[in-house]
Amino acid sequence: MERKNAWKGYDEQKMAQVDALAKEYMQFLDASKTERECVDAIVNEIEAAGYRELSVLKKEGGKLSVGDKVYEVLMNKSIVLFQLGSKPMVEGMNILGAHIDSPRLDVKQNPLYEDSDFALLDTHYYGGVKKYQWVTLPLAIHGVVVKKDGTTVEVNVGENEDDPVFFISDLLIHLAGEQMEKKAAKVIEGEALDIIVGSKPLAGEEKDAVKAGILKLLSESYDIEEEDFLSAELEVVPAGKTREAGFDRSMILGYGQDDRVCAYTSLKAMLEIGQTERTACCILVDKEEIGSVGATGMQSRFFENTVAELLDLCGEYSELNLRRCLAASNMLSSDVSAAFDPSYASAFEKKNAAFFGRGMVFNKFTGARGKSGSNDANAEYMAHIRSIMDGAEVVYQTAELGKVDVGGGGTIAYILALYGMNVIDCGVAVLSMHAPWEATSKADIYETKCGYKAFLEKACL
Ligand code: MN
Ligand code: MN
Repeated sequence: MERKNAWKGYDEQKMAQVDALAKEYMQFLDASKTERECVDAIVNEIEAAGYRELSVLKKEGGKLSVGDKVYEVLMNKSIVLFQLGSKPMVEGMNILGAHIDSPRLDVKQNPLYEDSDFALLDTHYYGGVKKYQWVTLPLAIHGVVVKKDGTTVEVNVGENEDDPVFFISDLLIHLAGEQMEKKAAKVIEGEALDIIVGSKPLAGEEKDAVKAGILKLLSESYDIEEEDFLSAELEVVPAGKTREAGFDRSMILGYGQDDRVCAYTSLKAMLEIGQTERTACCILVDKEEIGSVGATGMQSRFFENTVAELLDLCGEYSELNLRRCLAASNMLSSDVSAAFDPSYASAFEKKNAAFFGRGMVFNKFTGARGKSGSNDANAEYMAHIRSIMDGAEVVYQTAELGKVDVGGGGTIAYILALYGMNVIDCGVAVLSMHAPWEATSKADIYETKCGYKAFLEKACL
């Protein structure tokens, strides 16, 4: 039952393909540190590949037919892609789904204050973070400020070499006796995650002169005033580029690989397939890290509405056809899996753990305790998936998220399963998941992309 290490089966040509994909993926990560940036990067890539916007087509009164490629974006944060198959939609689609939001620190709505000659921005963390990991790192600010007149100002500071960066301080070890006695969850409290953004008083100002200096700079650079923070979405993320890791350059260290590694490999698979029998679909959504809530999360009707519009443009729409199409679909809920970490071996059960280099990971179920909150795929579906993966010579492994009763987690799988379709969790194994810098294996990324492609082409349950 031991799974093989993918690297062992690679010849020089395969190695080159693995490296080429890794390189493109690293560029994608650097360009896509927020869900909005992800959507922008994806739209650019798919428009170049012949995808057209569904809502625009609808306005133009266009019709769709076999082989057409369309997409729809929701609120600049979620996107869904379709490539029409030769079979009617009502026979079901093959769907890849991943999320493009990642844990980070969001700037509060009333964030800017001055204390002891520092100007600081108050933040509220987003998603599951170990707060102590976010101090004393170079940080960047990405996002948008929308002004009352509706204009959007894009902000991206801290990524270029000559940009300034920001940081959160931590208490020096010499004075940290009391702090070091605290539990890890309390060592750095949520309200201590304020980022330092300045320390130079504005000449001629008496009160809060450092803050005044920052506001002057914001006004000059972005034409925004303090009240505009009220309608801003500014995300504080680790500053700097994704890097290759290891002497052998076999790994990738980068921010936001949960779940952009599955989003990118899904996107690549969509772009690599030829004409398929079933309609191929790829959903890349926001808000997974906080429970898939909100209009741009998977629980929103956005996806269902878009499929209805698509059926309409294909001349196939009826309420019954919509339900039949969704119920007959197959889905891979693509999210990262916990990689076995030899430094924390006791959290894993080795026979059912995901290892770096052993390929795409399938999780029959996720959840916590007695599989609570899990999708738990059917054996029939898992058998079908095994046959597809073996047929395409994809290196894959199966895993659980850690030992029974140690913890747990969930994905978007259960939400699509509500339609009665086949869904299984799968993805790429990540080391240090949810940390500012997460690690993945290049081989796993490559195998996962190949697995997604084989699924889109072959799944027919
Ligand atoms: Mn995830
Ligand atoms: Mn996550």
